[in-house]
Amino acid sequence: MRTPDRICRLCGDPGMKPESRDWTGMETTVTYACPGCDNTVKFNALSQAGLMSALGLIVLAIVTFFMVESPGMWETSDFLIYGGILLACAYVPLNILLPHWRYPISPEGGKRAPVTPDDNSLHQSTSDPLRRKIIEFERHGFWRGFLTPIVFIVIVLAAATLIGMLTF
Ligand SMILES: [Zn+2]
Repeated sequence: MRTPDRICRLCGDPGMKPESRDWTGMETTVTYACPGCDNTVKFNALSQAGLMSALGLIVLAIVTFFMVESPGMWETSDFLIYGGILLACAYVPLNILLPHWRYPISPEGGKRAPVTPDDNSLHQSTSDPLRRKIIEFERHGFWRGFLTPIVFIVIVLAAATLIGMLTF
């Protein structure tokens, strides 16, 4: 995976480079450091943001369905709960996307950025199959991450329908 340079938001230096790569237990966090100032920023994979957006929408759809279905008028507490869930579902993916927007990929730095060897060694050094899967998943972009849980649900629903048709 290419890890391109990024433009520092604080001093405008186009040579922000990935300094370290940390495994949090669920995902990889890449820390960028600016050579011009002491600014450091943490980045998570775009596919994680896509995954979180899709999961947020699914949670929101389920919550909306049950709240619309429940009898009676909405009270202030209902609006507060719904607003809180709405904010949480928006916050998680936006929190991942925000540094990608605020620190854009440096145009000249992107061209001369070498392939970082640590990504492949990280991938090969781990024997945990789930971790390998997540690292592979993190190489993809936003939409691949977004579609992954949706495709999964469609397959589960299709399988459930097929089993239902076979039994009845
Ligand atoms: Zn800087």
